[in-house]
Amino acid sequence: MTYNQIKTRLAPCVLHCEKCFAFANGDIANQSGYLKYLLGNFDNYAERFVDLLDNAVFSNYPQFKVMLNSFSESECKGCREESCKLFKSCKVRKCHEKKNVDYCFQCFEFPCSNTGFDENLYKRSVDINFKMKEIGVKVYYNQIKYLPRY
Ligand code: SF4
Ligand code: SF4
Repeated sequence: MTYNQIKTRLAPCVLHCEKCFAFANGDIANQSGYLKYLLGNFDNYAERFVDLLDNAVFSNYPQFKVMLNSFSESECKGCREESCKLFKSCKVRKCHEKKNVDYCFQCFEFPCSNTGFDENLYKRSVDINFKMKEIGVKVYYNQIKYLPRY
């Protein structure tokens, strides 16, 4: 994968949009859509299985399906295309454009206190940025591309 293709998947703060639950066409959205397809009319069965299999876990199916539908209908195009739907306070997206860098680690002010992130996200972003600075964008992406984000 080229540097520019990787950029469509990694946000300027270096979070992995491709593995985000909100990313349209991401693994979570696609696999949820496929599971939804495989489950078909399971609603009817789930209701019957509560008594038939004497297992109350099936009574949770409607809630599970709401979540599955939500995942499968995710439509975020990723941080470089639109504002992040998760981190409303993020300042990195606009800032990296002003600084004319692809990722924070390429900025002369990195690490800065201008991200708008909470303590956890800030630490995560800074740690990953330092790692990318050390090993490079492509090597980093190849290490994490199949890993879950959460
Ligand atoms: S921009 Fe935010 S909401 Fe959208 S895919 Fe990336 S991390 Fe998820
Ligand atoms: S000033 Fe901070 S938030 Fe903005 S690009 Fe540089 S390191 Fe990232």
